[in-house]
Amino acid sequence: MLSTLIYRSHICDDVPLKEIEEMVALANKKNERCDVTGILLFNGTHFFQLLEGPESAVVAIYNRIYEDRRHHNIVELMRDYAPERRFGNSGMELFDLREHERARVLQAVLDKGTSAYQLTYDDRALRFLRTFVEATEKETYYEIPRPDYWLFAHDDDARGKTVAATHPSADCRFAFQPVVDPFARRIISLEALIRTPEGALAEHYLAGLPADSLYEADLNSKMQAFAMAKRLAIGEQSLTINLLPMSLVMVPDAVERLLRGIVDSGLVPQQIIIEFSEKDVISRPDAFSAAIRQLKAAGISLGIDDFGAGVAGLQLLARFQPDRIKINRSIINDVHRSGPRQAIVHAIIRCCASLEIGLTASGVEKTEEWMWLEAAGISTFQGFLFAAPLLNGIPAVAWPDN
Ligand code: C2E
Ligand code: MN
Repeated sequence: MLSTLIYRSHICDDVPLKEIEEMVALANKKNERCDVTGILLFNGTHFFQLLEGPESAVVAIYNRIYEDRRHHNIVELMRDYAPERRFGNSGMELFDLREHERARVLQAVLDKGTSAYQLTYDDRALRFLRTFVEATEKETYYEIPRPDYWLFAHDDDARGKTVAATHPSADCRFAFQPVVDPFARRIISLEALIRTPEGALAEHYLAGLPADSLYEADLNSKMQAFAMAKRLAIGEQSLTINLLPMSLVMVPDAVERLLRGIVDSGLVPQQIIIEFSEKDVISRPDAFSAAIRQLKAAGISLGIDDFGAGVAGLQLLARFQPDRIKINRSIINDVHRSGPRQAIVHAIIRCCASLEIGLTASGVEKTEEWMWLEAAGISTFQGFLFAAPLLNGIPAVAWPDN
């Protein structure tokens, strides 16, 4: 099937134009052999390339381009299918936008078209092309340094801090994972993540519970989390816990019990954030809202977790009043190289800014993901890049430095 792939990239500073011309000439021979055509635009700093051809050949060429050290900040904008080629001339000439008069440059690009039909802007690929030529989105072409620009190091005195689990007989444990602001070198919050007594992950703990005691156990486990936070001497540090929405609804006096647990552990409600996952069903929204009102009235903050995982989504913002939102890892993963994910993150950032909602990116594993998100305007992060959860304790944070 004929497929189309569009990407844009930055050219590295130290590559002379002559080398680019040679690089293109060489690439063209390969493209011709693989039946891949298209157009390559260059504005002096950025490339924009539209590749058209058999899917496997297009993807193979793109993967090779991605590994080429002469480009960087490569972002895939579109991967789609089409009935015919838009730019079907054999090979792929380098089209230098600077060599054309500004007012005529778009037409000059379109004149390269070979489609039997007139090229029109009903076509997404051509709209991408126009946006690049007109440079209307240039402020989002972030220059991200290479990952080895940063060195990650723990504070000298910081070793993971652990304590024995509060009650050896308890049916659950907690691992703590910091949410950090790396440039401010500050821990924003500690998230308590439930574990089985053997240390297995949250999903195993929750899956191992009988259905009739799921909500009770979920709520009860939070007493352990608060008690551990006390033993870990978190002081005034903010503490994030996770709860199924229905644990608030189905367990009698859930809010009172939470508040008592908080106070009994020497914590204050103002330092607690309760997160609900976008993935969890809120089957009784009115009862849930009533419980949230009580929590808010006591000073507890509301967080929405897994935002963007594609289940409940944007309507949660209209319906409840979250103080914080965590963007799901499915959107964060490789955000630095995906146009669609970047667009989603930009939209979430704008939305949260309008509503004064704090925003955290979760599941950050790669330096480039973190750098792209910082450039886009996010400043708090959670993920293995900075610290993995530590069972019965608070892990040391790896802070970036250069
Ligand atoms: P969550 O609240 O989004 O917690 C983050 C999860 O992502 C944790 O998994 C954590 O270990 C993992 N994680 C953190 N950084 C990274 C990273 O860089 N890469 C990857 N791949 N994963 C990362 P965990 O502990 O298995 O928890 C899974 C989910 O279980 C939590 O997601 C939360 O929704 C739920 N959960 C955890 N504790 C509780 C609890 O006490 N009650 C309820 N109802 N749910 C809980
Ligand atoms: Mn969470």
